[in-house]
Amino acid sequence: MKHKCPICKAATDSAVHTDFPFCSERCRERDLGNWASEKYVVSEPVFNEDDIAAGEGNTIVPDLDNDLDNPNDAEH
Ligand SMILES: [Zn+2]
Repeated sequence: MKHKCPICKAATDSAVHTDFPFCSERCRERDLGNWASEKYVVSEPVFNEDDIAAGEGNTIVPDLDNDLDNPNDAEH
């Protein structure tokens, strides 16, 4: 079975390359590294988004209400 190395695009052969579909162990490890860092980047915003959405809704709404109420009372 012939394929192309996903990292360096070199032609690979499942009968010849033990790291198929990668041409070498170095390319195989590089792909694993890319996958690991992608997973890290994806899981971080998901956790932060949840954290920020819950925190913003609770702190900004009561704060804005107080800020609008007090200056209005003093100006009128
Ligand atoms: Zn390669």
